[in-house]
Amino acid sequence: MTDGETSRNFITDIIDEHNASGHFKGRVHTRFPPEPNGYLHIGHAKSICLNFGIAEQYGGLCNLRFDDTNPAKEEQEYIEAIIEDVRWLGYDWDDRLYFASDYFDELYEMAVELIRIGRAYVDELTPDEIRAYRGTLTKPGIESLYRNRPVEENLALFEKMRAGGFKAGEAVLRAKIDMSSGNINMRDPVMYRILDAAHPRTGNKWKIYPMYDFAHGQSDSIEGITHSICTLEYEDHRPLYDWYLDNIEIFHPQQIEFARLNLSHTVLSKRKLIRLVQEGQVRGWDDPRMPTISGLRRRGYTPEAIREFCEDIGLGKVKGVVALHKLEYHLRQHLNKTANRVMAVINPLKLVIENYPDDLVEEMDAVNNPEDESAGTRLVPFSKVLYIERDDFMEDPPRKFFRLAPGREVRLRYAYFITCTDVIKDDRGEIIELRCRYDPATRGGSAPDGRRVKATLHWVSAQHAIEAEARLYDTLFTVEHPDSDRDTDFTEFINPDSLKVVDPIYVEPHLRKARAGDRFQFERLAYFVVDEDTTAEKLVFNRTVTLRDQWRKAQKKAARAPRKRQRKAKPAR
Ligand code: ATP
Ligand code: MG
Repeated sequence: MTDGETSRNFITDIIDEHNASGHFKGRVHTRFPPEPNGYLHIGHAKSICLNFGIAEQYGGLCNLRFDDTNPAKEEQEYIEAIIEDVRWLGYDWDDRLYFASDYFDELYEMAVELIRIGRAYVDELTPDEIRAYRGTLTKPGIESLYRNRPVEENLALFEKMRAGGFKAGEAVLRAKIDMSSGNINMRDPVMYRILDAAHPRTGNKWKIYPMYDFAHGQSDSIEGITHSICTLEYEDHRPLYDWYLDNIEIFHPQQIEFARLNLSHTVLSKRKLIRLVQEGQVRGWDDPRMPTISGLRRRGYTPEAIREFCEDIGLGKVKGVVALHKLEYHLRQHLNKTANRVMAVINPLKLVIENYPDDLVEEMDAVNNPEDESAGTRLVPFSKVLYIERDDFMEDPPRKFFRLAPGREVRLRYAYFITCTDVIKDDRGEIIELRCRYDPATRGGSAPDGRRVKATLHWVSAQHAIEAEARLYDTLFTVEHPDSDRDTDFTEFINPDSLKVVDPIYVEPHLRKARAGDRFQFERLAYFVVDEDTTAEKLVFNRTVTLRDQWRKAQKKAARAPRKRQRKAKPAR
């Protein structure tokens, strides 16, 4: 929530109605219910912000509950990663960390109760038969020949399922609802199946596991959840959610659906993200190109930026795709306020100041963050031999290039005015060094005679600079919607240039103290974060996001002048 503002949306409208009618006696209790079958992604962040945010807004509570009903796909590693990610986003569930598996005994009793009242039965059709009997949207289903077994037989067979008397696929427990229902979810859905897998928490105690639909609503009910918020795919499951609670006759939370977040240039489905990890397309779940919370964290995202983004995109019932630059916008907003500025050169060009004393080193006063006075200042060493950015020099500059060129004077940030006097090249004609002269009267970056320069360049002192590695990231996919093409697997759209490693880059000596997770703005270049691969010998930086929205600028330009030839000159920064 942005600074005490309260956001209104269709969910708060529903809650307000409940509160007005006294439906839940004014209580608001939500939950975030991840299945521990992968790492959380930015879509989950939306759900987390929503559930914890609404609880906060109404002075209610939000639980963290693992929906761990499928041991075939779930792992302890994921449980731990999810807990870390929700905490990192800034949310707290006090002692309300729950697992659906904690309720396996109660759920079993509820299933027995449904059998007793004649609303559940053990079916011994094969999985293929069950599928075929289910029917289609236009064709009603067919009742199983086992549907009308007597209660006692069902009780005995369900007990036999639990005791391991059947193999996986030989028997399931089904709710006895309506095989001709227009809603396929109501055609005698499976409640329990046999799974031959050890559970991360209950070990080998259970041979049978509840289906999501049978576990979810009852878990909500057991925890006293008032508003069970989920994504739109579950809208057609709501009648079933309600049916179980009504027939078991327990406390009945309200399920509410909203449209899931989709983000451009990436995929947001654990099934697909797992493939990227397993196929080695990325270095792991926390690869900085991944849309996972841990990937975004390693990339240098802040929890504040993610929360602001989730608040900004709002809540709706209509499916859509949010452009990646929206997320990046909020990141820049927050980093601009909080990241200290430093000077670093990524593509170095040597520059020698001929009239600067050979052994002199001056300490230049530099501002850490112009947006935050309390960040203070630091000293940056300046000497005769420097590195500047290769892009900041052109031998034969076009009209709008205002940076360094032969005979031209520019400012070196926090230091002096310099004028380029000579260009030195190697045998192949490549520029390898610039010769310059400085004006000692311009110390601090202004001339006493009031003359002006059109550009200010960043630099590092060659003898003081630290060599580091920079990992420059681009989008993981080359297209906006990598998973919307039916005929092409999304991995076909992976961007072969999504990672470019530059080693060495040169950074100012102040960065020697930087630690993994520290975020900086490399002046005039981009925001960077220190990667956890950093060692005592080697600093490694991830480029978090460029300073300006270059992608959007390019889009706009393309939209404005679709057929015009692009001008060669790069605009001055
Ligand atoms: P995925 O499709 O990525 O595997 P999921 O829905 O299977 O996601 P869960 O662990 O079941 O993943 O999700 C936990 C909660 O997060 C659910 O309430 C789910 O609705 C919500 N959620 C998952 N993906 C998104 C998304 N893209 N946008 C908003 N909420 C989401
Ligand atoms: Mg799920």
